[in-house]
Amino acid sequence: MLKIKFKFFLIVILILIILIIDKSAAISHIDEFPLLGKVIFVDAGHGGRDPGVVYGNIYEKDINLEIAKVLEEKLSLKGATVFLTRDSDIDHSSVYDAHKKRGDLYRRIKMIDENYLKIDIYLSIHVNWYKNSYYKGAEVLYYEGNKFNEILASSIQEKFKKNTSTNREITTTNLYMYKYINTPGVLIECGFLSNYQERKLLQDKDYQATLAISITEGVIEYFNNI
Ligand SMILES: [Zn+2]
Repeated sequence: MLKIKFKFFLIVILILIILIIDKSAAISHIDEFPLLGKVIFVDAGHGGRDPGVVYGNIYEKDINLEIAKVLEEKLSLKGATVFLTRDSDIDHSSVYDAHKKRGDLYRRIKMIDENYLKIDIYLSIHVNWYKNSYYKGAEVLYYEGNKFNEILASSIQEKFKKNTSTNREITTTNLYMYKYINTPGVLIECGFLSNYQERKLLQDKDYQATLAISITEGVIEYFNNI
C-alpha cells in the first residue's frame, strides 16, 4: 500500500514539474515573439514615376524601400505578419488617373483599410527634406483623428531617441493619405536627405538596421501600452 502511495506521489510530482516547464516555455515563447498575431502593413513611400525627394542620383523612393524591407524582416522575426504596399520600384497609379499621385495614395489607403485580414497598424516610411541643411534626425508624424496614432508615434520616437542621435519630437500631420486611413498608424520620416551627414547614414545598411530595430522596439512598446 505504501509503495502504491509513493508511486502516486511521484507521478503527481512529475506532472507538476512538466506543467511548470511547459508554462515557462510558453512565457519565454511570448518574450521571444512579442508581435505574434499582429498584422502590420509597411508602406514604402513613393516609387515608380514618383521618386520623392532627390539629391543628385539619390532617390528617396529607393531608401524608403530598403528601410521597409529591413523593417519587414525585423518585425517578422518578432512574430508579426507583415505586408508591404510595394516591394519593388513601382507606384499604384493607374493609366486612367487624372491625378497620378492622388491615385497612388488612394490605392495605398484601400490596401491598408480594406485588406481581407484585420490590420493592426501601418507604418509609412519616408525620408525628409528641408531647405536649411542644418536640420537632421528621425521623427514620427501622426494624424490626430485616431487616439492610437499618438501613442504609436511617441513609442517609436522614444526608441529613435534611445538608439540614434535625433532630438526631434513627434508632430501632427494633415497629409491626404494619413487623414483617410482608419487603421492606426504613423508617418515615419527617417532622416533628412538635405543634411550631409544624414544623407550618408540613410544609405548605410547598419544605420538602416538601427532605424528598423528602433521602429520594431517602438511597435512592441505600443502594443504593451494599449
Ligand atoms: Zn516622402
